[in-house]
Amino acid sequence: MAESLRAADSKVQRAIDRERERQESTLGMIASENHVSEAVLEAQGSALTNKYAEGYPGRRYYGGCDHVDAIERLAVERAKDLWGAEHVNVQPHSGTQANMGVYFAVLDPGDKILSLDLTHGGHLSHGHDVNFSGQLYEIEQYEVDPETGYVDYDDLAARARQFNPDLIVSGSSAYPREFDFARIGEIAAEVGAFHLADIAHVTGLVAAGIHANPVGVADFVTGSTHKTIRAGRGGIVMTSEEHSEAVDKAVFPGAQGGPLVHNIAGKAVGFGEALEPAFAEYAEQVVANAKTLADVLLDHGFGVVSGGTDKHLVLVDLRESHPDLTGSEAEEALDDVGIVLNANTVPGETRSPFNPSGIRIGTPALTTRGFGEEQMRTVGELVVDVLDDPEDGEARRRAAAEVDRLCEAFPVYDD
Ligand SMILES: *Cc1c(COP(=O)(O)O)cnc(C)c1O
Repeated sequence: MAESLRAADSKVQRAIDRERERQESTLGMIASENHVSEAVLEAQGSALTNKYAEGYPGRRYYGGCDHVDAIERLAVERAKDLWGAEHVNVQPHSGTQANMGVYFAVLDPGDKILSLDLTHGGHLSHGHDVNFSGQLYEIEQYEVDPETGYVDYDDLAARARQFNPDLIVSGSSAYPREFDFARIGEIAAEVGAFHLADIAHVTGLVAAGIHANPVGVADFVTGSTHKTIRAGRGGIVMTSEEHSEAVDKAVFPGAQGGPLVHNIAGKAVGFGEALEPAFAEYAEQVVANAKTLADVLLDHGFGVVSGGTDKHLVLVDLRESHPDLTGSEAEEALDDVGIVLNANTVPGETRSPFNPSGIRIGTPALTTRGFGEEQMRTVGELVVDVLDDPEDGEARRRAAAEVDRLCEAFPVYDD
């Protein structure tokens, strides 16, 4: 029992070491990723993984739950402090499971969901046909205005009146602007639909008070807990007392079995960190860094969807500035110099989801490493240098050397 992983399973240990080294030696710019603290890592890697705790604190189906009850209560209380919700469920295994919890709470199979189109920034769990959401429910999608890159709320309202949805979903994975939650709430009320605000990407920005908070505005708010909020991996549902029982039943036993108590501990620890004043500074820097990045790219003639960003990500449309470069080619060229991000569809996509026309660039992880605007300007210029001439080996070598320098100056973990 006492044997370390290194002694017990060198193959897995070696892969973990290499992954850790990869994270240290590259610039992580995938907008949904972050680097959690050592404290969160420790909570997630603890003996809590051994415990079954079906049910909720004080109402479990198993014995021996005193300590996991305490942990889950801490996670819930801290989440209430962070987002101001009346009721919180911290058990969803992921953001997708959180959405499933809300759908199961208020919809029947065949009911109708109106959500943002995936190629315009939406998420698989909002009704894509390869996901359960698209298979169980009837889906209609709204879009962003191809000219402005902003959600077209008049179009959304028109579709809502015509389609008569049971639920309207706001929130996105690749939309650089804030949603007008109040406006969507009004439209939902007009057509008699529930409003689910999925803040997966922006949980941390909302908690820090620098992004509009849909809690109390939308009927349900869901999120991922490992993105900008930088806590243990998983999901969360927030709602009012009115819907609390329906949500809790839908998450367990509706959608899941035993909760991942080790991840709930990671959520509790990360939420505790986010309640510290330093977290608000972090979140502000995340946005300042994204705006800096957008400015550098705009200055060099890149197409930036919506002309900039309100949050932690920039969506680049390569079609006008680099008509011969696809998003996947850009992703690969940047990966080669140690800048890791993802190709992404853009509004009005003319290529395919597998080889789209854009890239999505996020700042949460680099900001955690300590990057400020000065470093972000440097990173932006590296991106420009590499993408302006992906065949230029000398430019790639210069960029890779600069990436090495930045990684050494700003370690993720101190060991
Ligand atoms: C990331 C994300 C989710 C949840 O993703 P998981 O990988 O299941 O945690 C849900 N909705 C949106 C909009 C997202 O970006």
